[in-house]
Amino acid sequence: MTHSETLAKAGLTEAELSGGTLAVHSPIDGAEVARLKQTDPFDMPAIIATSQEAFQIWRRVPAPRRGELVRLLGEELRAAKDELGALVTLETGKITAEGLGEVQEMIDICDFAVGLSRQLYGLTIASERPGHRMTETWHPIGPVGVISAFNFPVAVWSWNTALALVCGDPVIWKPSEKTPLTALACKKIFEKAAARFGDDAPEGLLQLVIGGAEVGEALVASKGVPVISATGSTRMGGVVGPKVAARWGRPILELGGNNAMIVAPSADLDMAVRAIVFSAVGTAGQRCTTLRRLIVHKSIKAELVEKLIKTYATLPIGDPRSKGTLIGPLIDQGALDAMQTSLEVAKAEGGTVHGGGPVTEAVPGGAYVAPALVEMPGQTDIVKKETFAPILYVLEYVGLDDAIEIQNEVPQGLASCIFTLNVREAETFLSSVGSDCGIANVNIGPSGAEIGGAFGGEKETGGGRESGSDAWKGYMRRQTSTVNYSAELPLAQGIKFDV
Ligand code: NAD
Repeated sequence: MTHSETLAKAGLTEAELSGGTLAVHSPIDGAEVARLKQTDPFDMPAIIATSQEAFQIWRRVPAPRRGELVRLLGEELRAAKDELGALVTLETGKITAEGLGEVQEMIDICDFAVGLSRQLYGLTIASERPGHRMTETWHPIGPVGVISAFNFPVAVWSWNTALALVCGDPVIWKPSEKTPLTALACKKIFEKAAARFGDDAPEGLLQLVIGGAEVGEALVASKGVPVISATGSTRMGGVVGPKVAARWGRPILELGGNNAMIVAPSADLDMAVRAIVFSAVGTAGQRCTTLRRLIVHKSIKAELVEKLIKTYATLPIGDPRSKGTLIGPLIDQGALDAMQTSLEVAKAEGGTVHGGGPVTEAVPGGAYVAPALVEMPGQTDIVKKETFAPILYVLEYVGLDDAIEIQNEVPQGLASCIFTLNVREAETFLSSVGSDCGIANVNIGPSGAEIGGAFGGEKETGGGRESGSDAWKGYMRRQTSTVNYSAELPLAQGIKFDV
């Protein structure tokens, strides 16, 4: 299918795709596929005011009814899955299965949020005072600003939006300037669901703003947007987080990772190899949860590295739309240059590089690379950095405590895992003295999170949690209420204050 056909099938019109200043390129072949009109930062106050007005209406709609809108959104996504998945592939370069997988994740979070809409539970708390009842209730908080990254252009929006909507909050979405087309398509899908839902979905419940950091900054700076959910690099989070906090807003930060796998002597190596390859080269190493560090027991390192080198040599690299391709392009030439620079630094720090380098015969115009395995003498500076490309550093360990120390000795804290058949090792890894990450798995790679669990990480990954578990609480305000149904007025802590 040509790019124009993919765009048309996703419902995007020529008028929407032209006449603006934001050039959008497909990483598949570098072709310019659109020139979008950008949002003028001067228009942001009016956009935020519209969202505030929508909030006045939406917070009054009962939560299970709000869930009905999300149910319809899930239905529309099911109907549009193939077309939206193909657009994700066109705009990010993900292989077809991963483009479709991203849309499936959107469907899954909608299902989760529909159930949640009847379970926004509060608490009843025992009061120390006779004739008193204490409760905790969750209320809608207001507009949520969603700033998303290029690599999960639509799933991250849906994680936030499905929850925000059932929680009673409107959403203003600023997608990555590298992937605005999938956002336009999602807005249309949402509008179909809203039209079916009826009149109690207010105008401006979901608004889309297009542009770069300056458009995002207007959201970040506004007191009219109490929650900012920002997904992207640690550099971006370092700017956004303090700005939101300084105006007493609530940041939910989902930032970079530097994810590791410990492979213990008892590990099922064949299973580990499959998990390593998917986690390290899937999405061409451009997942926040991509496996970047392999911490292998000295006794099995040579065997495992040999198996990996053999497997890496067979991986099909090329057009992400073609059947059989496992590694598509990087997002752009800048990402390829950054990968090459990191490999040079790794060599200078004592690394032995297997693979890597541009794959020029793939598709002309695209930034295709061979994934790299790099045996390192230790955890040097470059290993502690996230390079958003398929580079897997291999380190060795002798004792499990050392392995855990190496795993935790980086600034990021997103995803981690151990491959072992030894229950003592597995439980130690998951214990309070084990992995310090938000995600810690046993006999599963670090990437490919499932809806249901809270997603996010510690340290420079930002501390935010999204998607499952009680992440919904981040989109609501908590109210503690005490009701006195007695004829006395006892004070807490036994204080006597007779007047
Ligand atoms: P990026 O930081 O360059 O951009 C992310 C978004 O932030 C974009 O929409 C961008 O326009 C916006 N932005 C940048 N500066 C801003 C500012 N000062 N104010 C407001 N908005 C601003 O990231 P990217 O290259 O698109 O994505 C890759 C990064 O995202 C990687 O580090 C990856 O690990 C991370 N990521 C993390 C998660 C997670 O859940 N933890 C998920 C996906 C991606």
